[in-house]
Amino acid sequence: MKNGLLIRSIEHGTVIDHITAGQALSVMRIIGIKSGTSAVVSVAMNVPSRAMGLKDIVKIEGRELDSREVDKISLISPDATINIIRDYAVVSKYTVELPSEIRGIVRCRNPNCITNSDEPVASDFTVTKNPVTLRCRYCDHIIVSDIAEQLI
Ligand SMILES: [Zn+2]
Repeated sequence: MKNGLLIRSIEHGTVIDHITAGQALSVMRIIGIKSGTSAVVSVAMNVPSRAMGLKDIVKIEGRELDSREVDKISLISPDATINIIRDYAVVSKYTVELPSEIRGIVRCRNPNCITNSDEPVASDFTVTKNPVTLRCRYCDHIIVSDIAEQLI
């Protein structure tokens, strides 16, 4: 019984599993699911997980993710796994990979940073893990917490 009882399986689409517990709503925002959506989405939060203690899961019907979305998910949930489903079968499964540098994805919190100026340049951060830490390449400002809120 492969957790089919918890949330329904999907015919075509994507299962984002091993999301850091409590981050499912941020993941939904990243993939553009807002109130009023017509997308078929299942969400489970704080599900017991052998590997993680607790985890969240998001299943979305009829949709695959682009690399920008996967990069964003990796920042808030570095152990998430992406499962691509076709005809109810997993055709591809991978763990997100934290990029070492991210451009134009996260807003710098320093209001005086050149990336927040009137003629802004694209933000650019170096990324390190455990915990996920972003360092602005222009002003050295560091972002460790609430990364989801800084996503562009
Ligand atoms: Zn900055």
